Amino acid sequence: MSFDFDLLVIGAGSGGVRSSRMAAARGARVAVVENRYLGGTCVNVGCVPKKLFVYASEYVEKIEEARGYGVQTQLERFDWPTLRDNKTREIERLNGIYGNMLRNAGVTILNGSASLLDAHTVKVGDELVSAERILIATGGWPFRPDIPGVEFSITSNEAFYLDEFPQRVVVVGGGYIAVEFAGIFNGLGADVKLVYRGEQILRGFDEGVRKFAAEQIAAKGIDIMVQQDIVVIERAGNGELTCVMADGQRLVTDCVMYATGRRPMTDGLNLAEVGVNTRRDGTIETNEHFQTSVSSIYALGDVIGTPALTPVALAQGMKLVAHLFDGDTTPMDYSNIPTAVFCQPNIATVGLTEEAAAETFVNDLSVFETSFRPMKHTISGLPERTYMKLLVQTSTDRIVGAHMVGADSGEIMQGIAVAIRAGATKAVFDSTIGIHPTAAEEFVTMR
Ligand code: FAD
Ligand code: NDP
Repeated sequence: MSFDFDLLVIGAGSGGVRSSRMAAARGARVAVVENRYLGGTCVNVGCVPKKLFVYASEYVEKIEEARGYGVQTQLERFDWPTLRDNKTREIERLNGIYGNMLRNAGVTILNGSASLLDAHTVKVGDELVSAERILIATGGWPFRPDIPGVEFSITSNEAFYLDEFPQRVVVVGGGYIAVEFAGIFNGLGADVKLVYRGEQILRGFDEGVRKFAAEQIAAKGIDIMVQQDIVVIERAGNGELTCVMADGQRLVTDCVMYATGRRPMTDGLNLAEVGVNTRRDGTIETNEHFQTSVSSIYALGDVIGTPALTPVALAQGMKLVAHLFDGDTTPMDYSNIPTAVFCQPNIATVGLTEEAAAETFVNDLSVFETSFRPMKHTISGLPERTYMKLLVQTSTDRIVGAHMVGADSGEIMQGIAVAIRAGATKAVFDSTIGIHPTAAEEFVTMR
């Protein structure tokens, strides 16, 4: 049978773009279908614009820090349209780069929404396109609980394009996006309440990290309201919003942002009709080589429910192409994936939490931890502190987890992750000469 393409990728996000380019580089005839924006979530409404906003939000505090160093200056005002529009221009520049990158690699870009017709055919607009293999890399979409008035709220998608900067913000959720956006809004001068349904934000992170991070975030002025839920959102004529809480409290605010998780984006794909199995949460089921229940259809990235991180989608794309075109039969390794939450200060982690390590290595775990005031703040006068933890399997001396809450921890943890993947022991850390004076050197001096 002859097909229009060897590989047809649905979704030009992190995983789709990487898979398309890598497959085309191996001589495959590749097309990618995209219905919204080249680069996907990460480039358009995720990692990239978020990090630009994080940078912006840290300048205000830097002005405060500078005073202790004799640099006397005052914030005149923060101009939201400048930040928003400069960010949008940068994203548009990246969209162009992604388009060129794909075209230069020989990938055909098809604009429109794809839906599956059968195991080898996809409909894009009015056009039918056939391919030997189809890859679904359609990512995720924000989820909001269905409460009365939820339509008055926003999600991270809209937060990047607000007409006006809100002076008061209620952020709902306690995961990555809630914590990062609470930090962004707070840093830029809004009065922020972080409403979380559980006892402690950042479920799934190391308990020590959660507690320390929550204290630091609160010390920055964010009001963390735990064990709270909004039951109704009301909007007044002047646009002011009131969140009615389960306990009857009323929070008056200018903006409610839900960051209550993301769901796989499979709308209109016709998965069930074509026989692609999904799980209860809507994620697509695949085997370890990203093959779905229909043998010619593959899926990867956020839509399959693996850790929702851009580098994971990129690695999956490369792994799939190596499998399909180079005969690689080894499965993807999901162990020791480093990750960071870009709040203030950053949180970064790799490997096991202390709780998971204690379960895995019963009576065979050594814990090293430290907390200190970073040198910078001895003079700036800011109360920010840093926390570090190393988890070591006692019998083998191998490092099985590293955690940090502190400035630049995202930058620091990347190197630690390499060491851990290389099988570094505590003795190797201890014999490594520190870089002085840094916060990072504490990782090699913890005894
Ligand atoms: P996506 O990048 O979401 O791409 C899917 C693409 O498919 C989209 O472009 C979509 O328009 C398209 N599409 C969907 N359906 C169809 C269809 N039927 N037809 C055609 N096209 C379709 N990760 C990090 O590692 N670090 C971070 O700092 C980070 N920050 C984030 C901040 C936010 C606010 C968010 C929301 C996410 C963040 N992430 C971060 C997560 C990261 O963005 C995702 O894990 C990553 O983008 C997933 O890549 P993907 O290829 O699976 O899907
Ligand atoms: P998360 O899954 O990280 O967090 C969702 C939060 O919403 C949790 O605190 C959850 O509470 C809460 N929640 C879920 N449902 C409800 C509900 N019905 N009512 C009230 N609260 C609710 O999702 P995010 O949206 O923050 O981010 C999605 C993913 O994107 C992340 O998991 C991460 O993989 C990725 N991402 C990565 C970033 C990075 O690398 N820096 C930055 C941003 C996103 P509970 O804990 O009780 O379940």
